Amino acid sequence: METFRSTVRLAGPLFLAFLLPCSISPVVAVDYFTDNGYGNPLAVIQHPCAEFYNGKTYVAYQGPHEDPYVCAYDHAAKSWFGPVKAGVNPMGNTPDTSDPKKVDNHGRPALIVDRMGYIHLIFGGHGGEFSFGCNALGTPGKGRQTHVVSEKPGDISAWKVLDNVSPFGTYSQFVKMDDGDIYLFYRHGSHRSDWVYQKSIDDCRSFSSPVSILKHKGQEADPNVQDSWYAWLDKGKGDTITASYVYHPCKSQGHTKERYNGYYMKMNCGDDTWESASGAGLTLPVTKEEADQKTLVYDTFSAKLKSNHGTCHVDDEGNPHLFFRQQNQVLYFRWLGNAWQGPTAIPGGDGDFIVESPKVVRMLLSCDGGVCWWKTTDGGLTWAKESCPLSSTDSSYITTALVRNGRPESRMVVSENSRLQNHLYRRLYLLGDSGPIGRPEEEASNLGELLKDSEFSPPAPGGKIRNQSGDHTPDE
Ligand code: ZN
Repeated sequence: METFRSTVRLAGPLFLAFLLPCSISPVVAVDYFTDNGYGNPLAVIQHPCAEFYNGKTYVAYQGPHEDPYVCAYDHAAKSWFGPVKAGVNPMGNTPDTSDPKKVDNHGRPALIVDRMGYIHLIFGGHGGEFSFGCNALGTPGKGRQTHVVSEKPGDISAWKVLDNVSPFGTYSQFVKMDDGDIYLFYRHGSHRSDWVYQKSIDDCRSFSSPVSILKHKGQEADPNVQDSWYAWLDKGKGDTITASYVYHPCKSQGHTKERYNGYYMKMNCGDDTWESASGAGLTLPVTKEEADQKTLVYDTFSAKLKSNHGTCHVDDEGNPHLFFRQQNQVLYFRWLGNAWQGPTAIPGGDGDFIVESPKVVRMLLSCDGGVCWWKTTDGGLTWAKESCPLSSTDSSYITTALVRNGRPESRMVVSENSRLQNHLYRRLYLLGDSGPIGRPEEEASNLGELLKDSEFSPPAPGGKIRNQSGDHTPDE
């Protein structure tokens, strides 16, 4: 059964205190935990953006000035802390603009908690600048990939920079293994760059040098086109890491944003080898030719159908389930042991999913005016919509990868773009199986003087939902 909730209920006040003495003002609660997300504050590709650790869910997002902000939710106390600004994004503008095209958005933070309980963020990168020196693995862009860590374990109130990762990164992603080793994956520059990882075995106090996994290079037949990639990495079964990715033919002349195909491969962390779904060994960094031959899940290039990256998770048997995006649907696949099953189309924009068993998968997807759960119980052959814990006729929503180690009440962080506003500040929700975790309105209101800035004008009645942003500039 679908359960729709109106905008008024979501955005409007709910009175927590029903019978308070007249002299005390009632506490007003709202369903979002902050209103100072900025631009496109979150995305699936910078992940995780949140982790449940030792009783708290830590959430990172892009706030004013495109800087990284962090909030923490204490599940036992049912209380929020933050937002706290955790660093400075070199790509931020002052003052904040209301023009979405001027917001870069690539410097959104990824978050991980190490085995000592310190919280780490990587943010601020969009390929790095020429002035940083030689980028042997790619082409510089702008920004600076920056690493900060909380001063104390489990405490988001103070942060410091650790200068120990490449400044050329963008689309930063953390993968934490069962033993606490942490891999940082990212693209080592702008489009024409390898995808790499740096590994830390000491809680991100130091990292290995970058290792290329996907190679950028000019095509022999047409040097105007460079092979380029968008990848999504996550922990697989045991000591493995999965990579699902799409191909971008990056043209010097006549550049487009086109992306095609869908690919999958796996890393064996014990010996740093990579293999295809069927177990064929791969040579690093994987070239377009080898990817096409051994790792292709879904060919869209032949039919000139565009595709985009989704997410990937494994079941208890280690078999990958994944989706790629295509127009207004996601295409689900799963590995049967000797072949890919799929694609199965599910209407939706973007999101992530939980593999409960090889045949039972639940997917949380943005859709037109909502965020909805979909479920399959037959291994992905058919899907049914279960519920929509967020929906509105006046808003669209940006989803993220699932909260790492998320609880039933804290599965995903979601950003809201409302047509009722002309500025780029966003309400953010921590969404569980049945709805968001709210907060007193006074705590969730964090814009202060920002809206008084002259760059912002009153909302236009019936205006368009302003969700087009720098994400779609030529150098995404
Ligand atoms: Zn390109």
